[in-house]
Amino acid sequence: MVSNYIVGRLNRKPTFAAVYPIQAIDPSVPAVVMTSIDLQWVSALITSLQRRNGSSVLLVDNLGTVIAGDPGRSAWIGKRIDDTSFFKSLGHGDEGTFRGEGIDGVRRIFGFARVPSSDARLIVGLNEAEILQRTDRELLLAYLQLGFFGLLVLLIAWFGGERLIVDPIRSLARTAERFGRGDLQARAPPEAWAKEFVPLTVALNDMAQKLADREEELRAANAHLRELASSDALSGLANRRGFDARLAADWQRAGKLARPIALLMIDVDHFKQFNDRYGHVEGDVCLRRIAKLLRETATREDDLPARYGGEEFALLLPGNKVDSALAIAERLRHAVEDLCVTHASSPTGQVTISVGVASLVPSAGEDAGHLIEAADIALYAAKRRGRNTVVAHGAIKLAEAS
Ligand code: GH3
Ligand code: MG
Ligand code: MG
Repeated sequence: MVSNYIVGRLNRKPTFAAVYPIQAIDPSVPAVVMTSIDLQWVSALITSLQRRNGSSVLLVDNLGTVIAGDPGRSAWIGKRIDDTSFFKSLGHGDEGTFRGEGIDGVRRIFGFARVPSSDARLIVGLNEAEILQRTDRELLLAYLQLGFFGLLVLLIAWFGGERLIVDPIRSLARTAERFGRGDLQARAPPEAWAKEFVPLTVALNDMAQKLADREEELRAANAHLRELASSDALSGLANRRGFDARLAADWQRAGKLARPIALLMIDVDHFKQFNDRYGHVEGDVCLRRIAKLLRETATREDDLPARYGGEEFALLLPGNKVDSALAIAERLRHAVEDLCVTHASSPTGQVTISVGVASLVPSAGEDAGHLIEAADIALYAAKRRGRNTVVAHGAIKLAEAS
């Protein structure tokens, strides 16, 4: 048993007494041990406990007398506080908590518990403002941490999304776009993307490869068709369409460069009779042999031998003046003679050709028809002169080109 607050009679110190029943020598006599506890010691004990700023510790007895307290509360020791709202908040409970003003008027959050085997209660109060401030601080810190982690998650999601989804899609779109613009070598790069994109990349590249192959086939087919459309099946030379196209282009170029362009118009002499006598098949063989000679005569890359139609051939010689064109024509006429293809119905007894030669420097307003016309006139003149001969177009026009 522990007493309430008392003041020691001998030493005049704040004290409380503790009484403990013991066995006396004579069992019939009831005996107790009584001791007084120096409250200064209790206060010193409270002070030695680690304390927080703004906190308070009080030991109060059953009657509401302050028994001990921290140094800030030492003036209250021995005082009765039973009429204060603070003491009334304790009620009669052995333990509990409450919020309110302490005896010094500071608002605190209090917790109390009864000291075992006594009526005294120990009350510990923590500064409410400080606790709220701390709580606010911790709350703020928690919010900051939450915000930081949220931001981090967002950044990771953004970076991951950008790297794993948007980048591959952009790259695939770029590849498709390049391919669409005609870059048949465009392929999606084999990057370390999410594996979900691998089938898409493979499919896109496969499709690109197939399209590129198909495009190549189409180009080859087109080139072949173009060649067929502009070449002659019998002789293998350019046909009339091919010849016309080249003549138009070369005529224009010669006009720009103010260079001459020469044309040989070649016609097989008495070929109708040849066919009549030896047959059409033999006639074809003869035409092929003449075509071969024509090809051999056109030695430069720019020269164009062509089958103009029927048994008429043409040889376009860009850059040639009339003299060199005449020389080539003469060489060709000679080569045909040298073939010695028998033609019993011809005055010479063999297949011969007549050649009309023209060379012009294109002038403004003139089209390529002028060159054909000039060569035709010369060819007609060659026929009139008895065939197996070469004639150049009238010296009047040719003077400019020669
Ligand atoms: P000229 O000396 O005046 O040129 O007399 P020509 O008989 O050659 O003239 P013409 O134009 O009257 O006859 C051309 C002949 O060429 C008619 C045709 O039988 C023959 N011919 C035209 N194209 C071919 C062909 O592709 N193959 C064969 N074998 N003969 C053809
Ligand atoms: Mg003819
Ligand atoms: Mg003829």
